[in-house]
Amino acid sequence: MIPLAVPDLDGREREYLNRCIDTTFISSVGEYVNELEELTAKKAGAGYGVATSSGTTGLHAALMGCGVEEGEIVIIPTFTFIATANAVAHCKAIPWLMDIDPLNWCMSAEDLEDELLRKATIIDGRVIHKESGRRVAAIMPVYTLGEIPDMDKIQEIAEKYNLPVIADAAAAVGAEYKGKKIGRLADLTILSFNGNKTVTAGGGGMVLGDKEELMKKIKHITTTARVTSEYDHDMVGYNYRMTNVQAAIGCAQMERMEKLVERKREIRRYYNKKFRGIEGISLFPENNDVRSACWFSGIVTDKGGIERVREICTGLKEKGIEGRSFWKPIHLQKPYRNAFKADSLETAGHLWDRIVTLPCSTNIINSELEQVVNAVKEIIKELS
Ligand SMILES: *Cc1c(COP(=O)(O)O)cnc(C)c1O
Repeated sequence: MIPLAVPDLDGREREYLNRCIDTTFISSVGEYVNELEELTAKKAGAGYGVATSSGTTGLHAALMGCGVEEGEIVIIPTFTFIATANAVAHCKAIPWLMDIDPLNWCMSAEDLEDELLRKATIIDGRVIHKESGRRVAAIMPVYTLGEIPDMDKIQEIAEKYNLPVIADAAAAVGAEYKGKKIGRLADLTILSFNGNKTVTAGGGGMVLGDKEELMKKIKHITTTARVTSEYDHDMVGYNYRMTNVQAAIGCAQMERMEKLVERKREIRRYYNKKFRGIEGISLFPENNDVRSACWFSGIVTDKGGIERVREICTGLKEKGIEGRSFWKPIHLQKPYRNAFKADSLETAGHLWDRIVTLPCSTNIINSELEQVVNAVKEIIKELS
């Protein structure tokens, strides 16, 4: 079976893990945690990094750090992994769902501007959602698949409304926007080190940012809000720490980040080259302003419907290849039926159920890629 995306553990992972065991530093303090924070921040162009137990807990801590409170609103794109919305819900806040830009599958800056203009107002420096009277507390764009939305425009809107920008960059390590590294585009930037991400730690996450006070606050929130070593705590904190064992793997992976991302980009180029012009198939995004991290690659079928996606995946499975559908938008998810929504979520609604993700592990070999392409072409032909 050619799997969808498996870790590539060909670096110093084993050596670093052994060092954890030899030194007994296997828990939530240790040299690798500090090293991973420093290395990731440096490679992302950010001042500071705070390691967390997952991308989701990193997002939650970032929202809390920016002062998102119960009953408030956080703007996110509808086309994202459920964790983006869950982090908002974990603050007891409510997502306001925007549509995406077909160019990069990320939050549409035009939609954001238009929705805020029509549905929000600024009262005493606070952004108020007119219909509900609730405060809008933050904007959380998602760097879908390692693409990046129109951050120039999103920053301009954020400045106008004085809203913090928290980027869910979970799968976007290594991406660049107009020559700027990923950690330079928002107030806070959150990565995930989950097992299926390009750079993994088995599990874990990282909050990146430049503001020292804010980053200290986030560290405080994620480490049980401890004030002294005498069990003194000044607020309800969280145990969102990463362990040294996770960080050991993370360091070995992060050392090879550039190579891993370059292989992901090669895989995208290969699929897009081979599928270009094939009837019934559209391509994954190709956007020149952005050096995409190309986390996943695959195809978009021209004929819609999740049934068609299932048929393709079944056909692939019969040929020993793993293919999968991709994110079902938040506005179609049961727990978020009552979220606030942009007037139209049509782009996301007409995209998600046509996506098939294809094998894209960084250690996939070229003959396997060829096998995948031939299988997809056959299946699409049979189905048309
Ligand atoms: C993977 C992912 C997350 C969640 O990260 P975890 O480490 O699994 O909690 C959040 N948002 C996006 C866009 C992701 O791709």
